Amino acid sequence: MRLVVDLNRCQGYAQCAFLAPEVFAMHGEEALLYHPEADAAQREKLAQAAAACPVQAILVDAVDAPPEAVSDER
Ligand code: SF4
Repeated sequence: MRLVVDLNRCQGYAQCAFLAPEVFAMHGEEALLYHPEADAAQREKLAQAAAACPVQAILVDAVDAPPEAVSDER
């Protein structure tokens, strides 16, 4: 599953790093590091992290998009 963090929005609140430390990590005070290709096993944590982000900077395709929109378009 793919995930994108809008780093222009991200304010470094670190809610995501707290909720899904396998995927997000803070680098210093404000810089956020994350794995853009997260393991599907992290889906639940990612959904929580995305929901907890105060500025909705986290976009997770499998969470945000309705199932039919996730079809493989190649
Ligand atoms: S919770 Fe949102 S604002 Fe906070 S570090 Fe994560 S992406 Fe950035």
